[in-house]
Amino acid sequence: MKYLATIQLQKCLAPLPQSICLAEPNVISGVMGSKRRDLSALREPFHREYANCTLDRKAILMFTRQYGLLDWEGQFAGRTDLAGLKFTFHVEEWREHRANFLSAWATTSRNQKGLNWSIVPDTFPMPSTRSAWMVFDHNSLIVKGPKTLWTLTEKGPVARVYAQTSWEYLWMLLCFEQREKLRSCENPKCAAPYFIARRKDQRFCGEDCAHLIAASRWWTQHGKEWRRRRASRKAKR
Ligand SMILES: [Zn+2]
Repeated sequence: MKYLATIQLQKCLAPLPQSICLAEPNVISGVMGSKRRDLSALREPFHREYANCTLDRKAILMFTRQYGLLDWEGQFAGRTDLAGLKFTFHVEEWREHRANFLSAWATTSRNQKGLNWSIVPDTFPMPSTRSAWMVFDHNSLIVKGPKTLWTLTEKGPVARVYAQTSWEYLWMLLCFEQREKLRSCENPKCAAPYFIARRKDQRFCGEDCAHLIAASRWWTQHGKEWRRRRASRKAKR
């Protein structure tokens, strides 16, 4: 086998809404602004933030305010003149997309090696962009890969992959993650259970959950003993 080229995923500049609100009990709507947020420069990786967002409508609204619209159908893909454009989505629609995404995360396990890429076509088609002239026809999603530009450098060809929507970006991040690194925290009460493992034996999302579970296990095993000893110490005094 011979490697022919380098392929780089470029950063994603997500357009942010300038205003957003709950229009009806379960409908979120707003107006796009001109600011953008670099989703590749967050403190936590964007796919982790997304996977851990809670599902109540307020959290979904906050998520959209902070990170912009996911734009599943590519309504705004490739456009630069977004300021002032209106958007609307149903909270349930957001939840369904997230469930799809998590199913691709959760079907992985630490025994599976290699890129997550292979499971994606089974659970969800590649990110798609709806062609502009078929905007009203839901059955005419045109499946395209993300935009890719080739450059010839001295070291050989380099392909730059641009996600055109945040939704596409999320799937690109998930696809190119090592399968065994996509895990969920073993603390059943963890508030943000999905994480990307840094070590092979990592079972918890972070130190807090690890300590909490260790302490609770210790207590289950040794609690009785500890109480008995304390009682006998008190009795001696
Ligand atoms: Zn945790």
